[in-house]
Amino acid sequence: MTEHFASDNYAGICPEALHWFLEANASGHQPGYGEDEWTQRVSDRLRELFQTDCDVYFVFNGTAANSLALASLCQSYHSVICTTVAHIETDECGGPEFFSNGSKLLVAEGASDAARLGKLTPDAVEQLVTKRDDIHYPKPKVVSLTQATELGTLYTVEEVRAISAIAKRRQLRVHMDGARFANAVAALGCHPSDITWRAGVDVLCFGGTKNGLPVGEAVVFFDRALSEDFAYRVKQAGQLASKMRFISAPWIGMLENDVWLRNARHANAMAQRLHERIAGVPGVRVMHPPQANAVFAFLPRPAIDTLHAQGWKFYDFIAGGGCRLMCAWDTTPEAVDAFAADIRKACGA
Ligand SMILES: *Cc1c(COP(=O)(O)O)cnc(C)c1O
Repeated sequence: MTEHFASDNYAGICPEALHWFLEANASGHQPGYGEDEWTQRVSDRLRELFQTDCDVYFVFNGTAANSLALASLCQSYHSVICTTVAHIETDECGGPEFFSNGSKLLVAEGASDAARLGKLTPDAVEQLVTKRDDIHYPKPKVVSLTQATELGTLYTVEEVRAISAIAKRRQLRVHMDGARFANAVAALGCHPSDITWRAGVDVLCFGGTKNGLPVGEAVVFFDRALSEDFAYRVKQAGQLASKMRFISAPWIGMLENDVWLRNARHANAMAQRLHERIAGVPGVRVMHPPQANAVFAFLPRPAIDTLHAQGWKFYDFIAGGGCRLMCAWDTTPEAVDAFAADIRKACGA
């Protein structure tokens, strides 16, 4: 089997998700567009998981989840505060701006110390909100946090609360891009409700794909008033699956027996293992010890080229030329060890 460290979306479908995908297929004809029993069941499971009566929608991917969620929070003259490295800023091809008819993203430099890379700080949010209040500036309306961040760091419950407190004071909504929400919850060891609505998050884009689903993300509205007409946005954007059950049913496999957390814990542990094996290698400069499922490190350019020529796939353009070495739910210790050994050799160690 081939394994890579480029992205957790390189991994396949986990057995539990596949099982329920096949169960849904064995259930015969079912109503389309989310009116099926599977989608109802999974939505109820998510309400149980979060211990609140939230509104749940399923879309194909994270770009749509974020873009449509933000569009539902903003008018066209509003703005969304995020970091310079936020996926919504760098990797969604203007989707949030497009679907909101022009809402602007206001970027703040994330925290600069290594352990907080990629994170918004309360100060940065406060600064952006108070910078201008005239009619010529797009009115700040949302703070968007990525959990885990694009640079592999985590917001603690206290940090989310601190940012939410400012958001509340300044009448901003809080959006969480949780493409790797599972990895964050697993690493923090907190209850999923504590890092979301209990900490002031209004909408969570709960990633399933990178955690072992075939496809699909859940958009979870904790403030149900915000989801008014969301179904229409989903449909208009071409994100309403007619055979919705094949997106929703696999979530049963993830939620039953906390498979989503088990998958995430495994991916996180593999990142720890990789870190242990390469941290001391001369030429390797790890940016910060892994907090979730990726190791971020600077490697010498010739070593990167050698590793790529050997067939290892990983990104080398993240965070000012650093390499992102990403582990998935199915990354094996053997692959980690083989990769680490090749890194060591490529660095001449
Ligand atoms: C992967 C990812 C997404 C979702 O991307 P899609 O390719 O649109 O599914 C969103 N946010 C972050 C931080 C991601 O890493």
